[in-house]
Amino acid sequence: MVKRGLLAAGHYRRTLRRSRFPGVVVLCYHGLRGDDTPAGAMAFENLHVRESTFDAHCRVLRDMCDPISLDDWRASMAGRAPLPPRPVLLTFDDGYRSVLTLGAPVLKAHGLPAVVFVCSEPAERRRLVWFDDLAAREGEDAVEAWKAHPYGDWLKTCAANTHAVADDDPRALLRPDEVGQLSRQPGIEIGSHTARHAILSQATAAEQRAEIEDSRAAIARWTGRPVRAFAYPNGRPRVDYTATTSSLLDELGFDSAFTTRRAFATPDEPPLERSRFLMLAEVMAPELAHRLAYAWPR
Ligand SMILES: [Zn+2]
Repeated sequence: MVKRGLLAAGHYRRTLRRSRFPGVVVLCYHGLRGDDTPAGAMAFENLHVRESTFDAHCRVLRDMCDPISLDDWRASMAGRAPLPPRPVLLTFDDGYRSVLTLGAPVLKAHGLPAVVFVCSEPAERRRLVWFDDLAAREGEDAVEAWKAHPYGDWLKTCAANTHAVADDDPRALLRPDEVGQLSRQPGIEIGSHTARHAILSQATAAEQRAEIEDSRAAIARWTGRPVRAFAYPNGRPRVDYTATTSSLLDELGFDSAFTTRRAFATPDEPPLERSRFLMLAEVMAPELAHRLAYAWPR
């Protein structure tokens, strides 16, 4: 309540306009949900931000910060143009269809760039991602348990046995033609999130390479563009991926990769291990403004 009043009174705007971020604020979204979708209708629903909440987030980012594209960031790293004082990059993991149907119009209306990281295999086969499939049948705890299994077991038991999903299901991923369509919206870049959302630390180097290369090839085919950005599934450094993973990305020509380490992406960070702030559905616009102005660790 207090934060809502502070936002309405322009307090966060004044504070932010006087400030300079120590690095880029990279926001990690997943899917979006229509305002009329009933609560409790899907697993992991806190990862699917309400459409109106997302619109309010975008307003805060546009009015109080300096949204950038990944190309703007690349240009600054190459010394061509400095970053603005409060740079923010929006990212979306997994490749949910709602990013196109609900998110893209909002991004366009506010003129905001974004990067969308797609899991190519369930997108192409029109299947649920393994964790959405498993959570629907056995609950979210079963998903946590399976993240600790070796890749081969997981592939055979979870990733190879997912169910078909209808395009209008909020858990559906983008269709291949829609990945292409989204990539053509100005400011939007498509990156890889592996083929099947594999926990790469559980896989051999050859298995990791196949997960990364398969998704890179599919997305390049669908968009007609080279794929240079990557997001590590689950994303915790040294837990969900290893130094081997980052070397593979380097070898395969990726120039930017994103973790879920919760921090500003400072200039001294390796470009293949960028930090991000996870965005959940429960974070309303005043809370986002508060975090941007004060709460996120400097
Ligand atoms: Zn993911």
